[in-house]
Amino acid sequence: MVYTGSCYCREIQYELNLPSPDDARTSLCHCRNCKKFTGSAFGITTKVPKKAFRVTAGQTKEHVGDNGSGTKLFREFCPTCGSGILEYGEHAGENIYIFYGTFDRPEELPPKGEFFCKSRENWMPEVPGVFHKQEIKD
Ligand SMILES: [Zn+2]
Ligand SMILES: [Zn+2]
Repeated sequence: MVYTGSCYCREIQYELNLPSPDDARTSLCHCRNCKKFTGSAFGITTKVPKKAFRVTAGQTKEHVGDNGSGTKLFREFCPTCGSGILEYGEHAGENIYIFYGTFDRPEELPPKGEFFCKSRENWMPEVPGVFHKQEIKD
C-alpha cells in the first residue's frame, strides 16, 4: 500500500510503501520533548521501517538534540514552513517515526497506543482501545 504525505506548504512531499498497514504503528507521546517540538499537547507519530520511506520532493532540514536522558534525537522538518516530517532516536534501529498529521490520509493509520501517559495533560482523556504506557518510546 502506498501512503503519501507532505508538509504544510507542500515543498516537502513523501511516499511510504508498506506491504500492509500492520507494518506501521501510530502512537501518541505525551512527553515534554514531543510537546515542545510540535508546539502541541502531545506528539503523534507513525513508526515505519526506514526503507519504506522516501522523499519525492524538496529536502528536509535536520535538528539533532538530546531527548533529556542522554539519547540523541534526530528530527527532520521543512525549512520553509517548519512542519515536522519525521523523527528517530539513535537507538531506533531501522525505523523512523513520521509525524502523523503530515499524511494526506492519516485516518488510514489510526493509533495503536500511547506513551508517557504520566505526562498526559490532565484535561486530556485516554484514547480508548489502545495500549497505554507510563513512559518509554523507543
Ligand atoms: Zn513546508
Ligand atoms: Zn515523546
